[in-house]
Amino acid sequence: MSDPHMPNSALEVHDPEILAQARAVLDMCHSGKAMQDAVIAAVKRNEQWRGEQCINLLAPEAPTSPAVRALLASEVGTRAAEGHIGKVNRWFAGTKYIDEIEALCVELLKQTFHARYADHRLVASMIGNLAVYTALTEPGDIIMSIAQPFGGHSSNRPDGPAGVRGLKIVDVPMDADELVVDLEAFRKVAPLVRPKLVALGASMTLFPFPLQAMSEIVAEWGGKIFFDGAHQIGLIAGGQFQDPLREGAAVMTGSAGKTFSGPQSGIIVWDDPNLTQAITHSIFPVLAATHQVNRVAALAVAAAEMIEFGRAYMAQIVRNAQALGAALAQRGIPVLGAHKGYTRTHQVIADVRAFGSGLDTAHLLARANIVTNKNLIPSDTAHDWDRPSGLRMGTIEVTRYGMREKEMDIIADFMARLLVEKHSPDTVLEDVIEFRQGYQTLFYNFDQGLPPE
Ligand SMILES: *Cc1c(COP(=O)(O)O)cnc(C)c1O
Repeated sequence: MSDPHMPNSALEVHDPEILAQARAVLDMCHSGKAMQDAVIAAVKRNEQWRGEQCINLLAPEAPTSPAVRALLASEVGTRAAEGHIGKVNRWFAGTKYIDEIEALCVELLKQTFHARYADHRLVASMIGNLAVYTALTEPGDIIMSIAQPFGGHSSNRPDGPAGVRGLKIVDVPMDADELVVDLEAFRKVAPLVRPKLVALGASMTLFPFPLQAMSEIVAEWGGKIFFDGAHQIGLIAGGQFQDPLREGAAVMTGSAGKTFSGPQSGIIVWDDPNLTQAITHSIFPVLAATHQVNRVAALAVAAAEMIEFGRAYMAQIVRNAQALGAALAQRGIPVLGAHKGYTRTHQVIADVRAFGSGLDTAHLLARANIVTNKNLIPSDTAHDWDRPSGLRMGTIEVTRYGMREKEMDIIADFMARLLVEKHSPDTVLEDVIEFRQGYQTLFYNFDQGLPPE
């Protein structure tokens, strides 16, 4: 006899204790309304803690503007619209204004990236990568992508969409000291492998890729570069990173909710008309049906914000990351890429081996409301997968709250007190909360404009 309240934990991937707590909360609710209130209360607790009291340094997180947040709750999010823009291309009637919203989004994305084509229907960048593999490869094809210790993402590896597509995956050779592609090694290995696609871009990216040179190498056998700009696509929109489409990438995807600071979802852009049929078909009807028009409207506004504020916002993000890297290093916390100015993106990667693993360090910092994540770094081996040596930080959110270089010194002080001077998290916590009280307004949007100097 099985008790539905006691599922077999061996069958459950989620933490069984946390699920049991949720069941206990629901058991105490005597009405549906109480269940609703339990959900809303948890959301409020997060809003107060992460939204008002934490220094959020997670590299893939960005706070959206009030206008973007309002659109995510808009009426149009209850409407069904699948297919391509225009009367004859849709299954449903009643979409004349939805066509208008979607067309504005597509044209804004094209403008933002100076691209000939863009698509607005990706509910995640992960799906964008699957769309690229669906459109541009056949099962059994060989591609090259970056391994995880160098920042490679599962979407381009055997355990993600590339693997699901049945692709054979060879590593892009990387230089562990320079933290970039080892171009000389690539020049030797690529002609032996003759990859159909080379996926560049990574979740840990500090410096630009030798994209132009690599695209020239693979062009010899008709290979293409696919730039997975999940993290960097906002920096690219703001002109603060390399420009993949101009440097030979055939297609670029990106997360709308990382540096781009829009609703969490995906963006895809390309220039070659010969790819349009295949890419668009792989999005609809293959991988997207109803595609959340509220999200499309929010994405369109995020693109307008990028056009207006992207340059200033993204430049400050990079300056803050460089300042944070230098400030941590000065205080005895080793940072990767020191000999190259630490970073050319929004990311800073510390080697925290001396303070325990990246996992322990991230949890210690979180006790003082400083939110980061563990990360594999090039010196890690397969054994270090769960307890890697790296700590990844990003400066998107702190920048949007108006912080500049001098605030990066203050954040580095907090971290050094915890890691180097071994102060108890409770003492640092109070100071972090007080510091964060002073930064509650989001800038680089049409309500607030630029932050004060
Ligand atoms: C985050 C990330 C993705 C996935 O993006 P989502 O928008 O979260 O689906 C893909 N590739 C890389 C390199 C990433 O860092």
